[in-house]
Amino acid sequence: MPVLPIYTYGTTQLRRKAQPVKELTDEIIALIMDMFETMHHANGIGLAANQVGVLRRVIVIDLSEMEETKGLKPLVLINPLVVSDEGTWSMEEGCLSIPDVRHEVERSEKITVKFKNADFRDVQLEAGGILARVILHEIDHLNGILFLDHLAAADKKTHAPALRKIQKGEFEVSYPVVTAAEVAV
Ligand SMILES: [Zn+2]
Repeated sequence: MPVLPIYTYGTTQLRRKAQPVKELTDEIIALIMDMFETMHHANGIGLAANQVGVLRRVIVIDLSEMEETKGLKPLVLINPLVVSDEGTWSMEEGCLSIPDVRHEVERSEKITVKFKNADFRDVQLEAGGILARVILHEIDHLNGILFLDHLAAADKKTHAPALRKIQKGEFEVSYPVVTAAEVAV
């Protein structure tokens, strides 16, 4: 299971809409395993396929090491769809694709989400708190949306210098990446 490079801010893959998965092929199974490997290697808690450059609606989440969700089983969400949501709350977010940039983001407090699991069975899950937040952050990725897009223009502006650096590849992380600068060459 290889660790895949993570596409970073400025690459087009992060801005494109991922396509639904119609059947659980060997390719999708391998993608799921590689995504877990990649996420764990980068110490992430969630990863969407767009972030490894694959435009399919696949998300992996692992909150088992977090205080609030200790022991929660890792989740695979294929073709996820939010069917209801309730309340709002804010919390600081970051993203493996946007190194060193963090900001408070307002999201729904409780959601009901439908998806297919790793066995391609239909699942309906009610999630709250951090789990709901991570699911919503990752579903955004599948739609080409980044957490920065939820910020007020003035707030987003404060991150402009950092974002320019990311686009130029001027940052250091402990995991392999693809930068906009490399893709442009
Ligand atoms: Zn992200």
